[in-house]
Amino acid sequence: MDGSVKELAINHSLDAESLYRLIDSCNDHTLTLLQQLAVETSVAQWGKGIFVRGLIEISSHCRNNCLYCGLRRDNTHLSRYRLSNDEILQCCKHGYAMGLRTFVLQSGEDPFLSDDNLCELVSLIRSSYPDTAITLSLGERSHESYQRLFEAGASRYLLRHEAAQSSLYAQIHPKEMSLNNRINCIKSLLNIGYQTGMGMMIGVPGQTTQSLVEDLMLMKQLKPHMIGIGPFITHHDTPLKEHNNGSLKLTLTILAITRLMFPDALIPATTALSTLSPDGHLQGILSGANVIMPNLSPQNVRALYNIYDNKAYKASQSADELQLLDNELHSIGYHINYSRGDHKNFSCNDNNL
Ligand code: SAH
Ligand code: SF4
Repeated sequence: MDGSVKELAINHSLDAESLYRLIDSCNDHTLTLLQQLAVETSVAQWGKGIFVRGLIEISSHCRNNCLYCGLRRDNTHLSRYRLSNDEILQCCKHGYAMGLRTFVLQSGEDPFLSDDNLCELVSLIRSSYPDTAITLSLGERSHESYQRLFEAGASRYLLRHEAAQSSLYAQIHPKEMSLNNRINCIKSLLNIGYQTGMGMMIGVPGQTTQSLVEDLMLMKQLKPHMIGIGPFITHHDTPLKEHNNGSLKLTLTILAITRLMFPDALIPATTALSTLSPDGHLQGILSGANVIMPNLSPQNVRALYNIYDNKAYKASQSADELQLLDNELHSIGYHINYSRGDHKNFSCNDNNL
């Protein structure tokens, strides 16, 4: 197995069969080696500064019904909220004062978030904070919509593919959603010129080693700039409520493999990882992650953005406590990097950044 790990670290790719064997028979020794090489690769590319992105959860309304997610439309037990433009700008003001230079606007697929409304919001943030990057994570939209939002000033978009294997995709999504459409959305984002994020949960019910290999191969083919990988966490009001959380060890294994396959990708240590384990974000960094997304949403709505149970509310995951996060990072030899942290193929002089 060590041979495959070293090959991955040198060539940044592995054939599907070797990848399957590596994931399937990864023991503690192999994981340690994977993490060690993933950290070396990440540090060589990005140094020991961890980029921070202020996450603003702008609406919990969703017209979709993904089987794994607490915001799904059939969850009638959730009280829904939507932030006003003024509230969102307040979050940006607060985040900017603390040094954040990327704002991530995330929400369910809220029909109220029309192109006109969103373009107005993006333009407002763009003109108020010209030296920041605006990242959107608003789900599936039309090519025209993505284009308009890009022109209004958004330069990054996170849209996880969720599952590259069509049978698994169909198992965890309602009939009206399709993998084809999801991939077309990701291609639109890439073609328009967004720094684009893909990714998947680890341990979602029905996932197999083979489906994980297909996830990694699809990303190799589409070349995303950002890759979001976190454990599946059960939500008690979803059809998947009987299933267990994804495994920490497998999540760290896939994170480390991902870093070796994509040396220059921006890879967050996700909130879901911190939910699974109190030091999950640090373990993520020690497996090759180089981004953290502290929560910048108003305190009174954080618990309502209830994607999964027990979402981490740790102080160091909150944008109000960046000093705590920095202290934690120092304890493992890292620190916060406050710059915008664009992907290397995009320089700050590029249009629209
Ligand atoms: N509506 C947008 C953004 C919000 S959901 C979208 O779907 O893209 C953001 C991410 O949360 C999803 O991509 C999904 O991978 C993750 N997520 C949803 N439910 C989850 C769960 N139960 N456990 C872990 N992650 C989950
Ligand atoms: Fe809605 Fe996104 Fe949750 Fe799916 S994952 S139900 S699109 S918020």
